[in-house]
Formats: sequence, C-alpha cells, structure tokens
Amino acid sequence: MANPKRDPKLRHIVLTSHPTSYGTKPIPIDWGNADPGQRSPLIGTLTDPSHRNVIGTHSGSYAIYRALAVVQGSLKTDHRADLTNTSPFVKIGPYPSWADPGKIVALDPFGAVIGEAFTEYLEKGYDIRPTIAITKAHINMPELYEAATKGRLTIDGKIMKENGDLVVTKAAIEPVWYLPGIAQRLKVTESDLRQALFEQTGGMFPELITRPDLQVFLPPIGGVTVYIVGDMAAISDPDRPVAVRVHDECNGSDVFGSDICTCRPYLVHGIEECIKTAQEGGAGVIVYYRKEGRALGEVTKFLVYNARKRQTGGDRADAYFERTECVAGVQDMRLQELMPDVLHWLGITRIDRLVSMSNMKYDAIINSGIEVVKRIAIPDDLIPADAQVEIEAKKAAGYYTEGEVLDPESLLEIKGRDY
Ligand SMILES: [Zn+2]
Repeated sequence: MANPKRDPKLRHIVLTSHPTSYGTKPIPIDWGNADPGQRSPLIGTLTDPSHRNVIGTHSGSYAIYRALAVVQGSLKTDHRADLTNTSPFVKIGPYPSWADPGKIVALDPFGAVIGEAFTEYLEKGYDIRPTIAITKAHINMPELYEAATKGRLTIDGKIMKENGDLVVTKAAIEPVWYLPGIAQRLKVTESDLRQALFEQTGGMFPELITRPDLQVFLPPIGGVTVYIVGDMAAISDPDRPVAVRVHDECNGSDVFGSDICTCRPYLVHGIEECIKTAQEGGAGVIVYYRKEGRALGEVTKFLVYNARKRQTGGDRADAYFERTECVAGVQDMRLQELMPDVLHWLGITRIDRLVSMSNMKYDAIINSGIEVVKRIAIPDDLIPADAQVEIEAKKAAGYYTEGEVLDPESLLEIKGRDY
C-alpha cells in the first residue's frame, strides 16, 4: 500500500524504457559537428523529461545524493540552475580537435560555453547545464615552497608568489560519452558496449538497451580536474613549450602522504616541471583523473595492500601486479584509451615534457596523434620509503626509465615494509 504521507508527485513513475516517455523526437546530437548550433546541446536535466536527449543525468556520480535531497524535500525536482556569472574566467578553444570525433568522445567540448553556444535553445526554455566549469585559484603545496627555498624553483611574483602560492586556471570536467565513438576507441561494437554498461550497472540505465537513438551517455563515474600554470595561449602555440602530467587519483598518497606509492611526490614533481615550463614562457598542465586505485576503487586497493604484505616472502616487487590481479581479476582498469580527450579539448598537439613513466599513458597519447618530445621519470630521491616495490615492479613491466631495469632475480630482492 502506498504511504499516504508521501508527496503525490513522487508516485508518478516515468519508466525510461519506453520511447514515448521522451516525446517522439528528442533534439538529435550531431557529435563532432564544429558548429554547436548544428551539433545541438546535450539535455540531461530532469526538469522536462520530454527534452532529454541523453542517457543518464548530470553530475552522474552524485545523482544518488540528489535523490536523497529530493526525497527529504530539501531540493525541488523542478529546480533550474541560475547560471548568472558562472561562465569561464578563461577562454579555452574552440580548436580543430573539437570537431574531430576521432579525438574527443569522452567529454563535451562545448560543455563550458553553453551560454554562448546554445543561446537559441536557452531562449526557447531548454534547461541546459554546463558539464565543464573553468575558474582561477591560488594553490599552495609545501613541497613546492621547499623547492623554491632550495633554489629548484624561482619565485617570480607572477606565476609563483612570495608565500609559495601558485597561480592556476582550473577546470572541472564531467564525463560525457558519445557511445559510438567510445565503442570505436575500445574496438568493440556499440551494442556490446551498451549491453555491458547495462548489465554491469545492475540494469540502472534501461535506455542503453531500449533507446539506440540516444547516443550520448552521462556515466555515473568520477570526472577530471585540469590545473593550468602559465599562459593559456602557450598550450596551442607550436613555438612555446608545454609540460603535462596526466595523474590518476590516489587519495592515500595525494592527500594523506601514504608512502607505499610514488603518487604525491610524482604529482608534485609534475607541478614543478609545469612551473619551470611556464616560467620559460610556456605552459604546464596537470590533468587529474578520478580513477582511484587504477579505477578498481579504494576497497580493492586496500585488500591488495594486505595481500601484498601477507604473502609468502612479504611485499615483493616480483609479485606486485600479480596480487592486484588475484583480487581484482585484472591489473588495471583505467582505460587510458579515453584519457587523451582532455588534452585534445585543451588544444594540445605537442607535449615537450611528459611527466609520466606509464607506457600505457604514453601509448594512448601518441596513438591519439599528440607528439611527445621528452618523457620525465620521477627522480630517485623523491621515491618514498615503502614505494620501491611499486617503482621497480613498474620499471620491470615496461614503464619508462632512463635508469636501470632490474632482472627477475634482482627484482626478488626488492621488499616492502612488514607490519
Ligand atoms: Zn598511489
């Protein structure tokens, strides 16, 4: 029996599995069209379901919190965002890559500029929301200030301030997947992709199966944050240098300084390279992806740590990848094939300094058509105490290094801390 106290509006359930729920014809999206008016906006809002032309909703991974706010009565279902004064502080693009569906399939290149790109639709009353927000900030990391006091970095008062503050432009990006393009990138069929997404989300999005006409999906996954140091214009200027670090989230190290991996020291080293490059008249770009624990999640990650520490012989470099595979079934799910899209959105065509040792990231970047001039490994003195296992295992597995790669026998000697 229905609860008589419930809001009567909540009782009216609209099933998304029937095309008629959406009206006969949602505005078609012509992905890759250079003219945003022709490409048409993505409408993922729920204020008018008949306007929706995508699968999923905005801020996908936060949709559940939104549901709780709605059910508690603190958020009205018909709330429309007031976007006054929210437009980007810095202009990015458009670039030729924005109109190349081979280069961008995992974000909406027009996601930050809906106000100017889709004026006509907004005037007609369509509830269009940005999927990208661009702002400015000062950031301050103690290691960078220390680098300045040691003379590795220069305080110039412009890019880096007296107190070690770094002046940055930052962009938050929500994932927007053009399914035919994603399928092509992963070398699978679109129908197999849709079926796997449907099944592995416990049937959360029926339209993946029932609505082949809806080709854009707002997946409920974490997004990306971009930090840019230096002059924006340098990024797409062939005569000025660009440094890039593509970093996958590791909360334990990045925020809390856990010493079992090299994540935070390498991230900071990446920022240091970005500052130097910016001070040479170029620009530095840090791209921070929410793909915790190689996109396996933090629970899996901590289970793997335990399995590594407790295996016979303790935490060993020779068994580093194996332990992950035992728990997760795979070594890595980060799907670097989709990673370069952000770089293409920024208009990057050449990276002078790529601060990454990952062969998977490097391959994805160069296969997407971006030239990489130099790769930069983490300096040995920045590798934390318990992280030798990780770094030696990675180098032995083919990660980039200018140093020595251990043979299988020497790899056996690299041990991590016991508890
Ligand atoms: Zn880490």
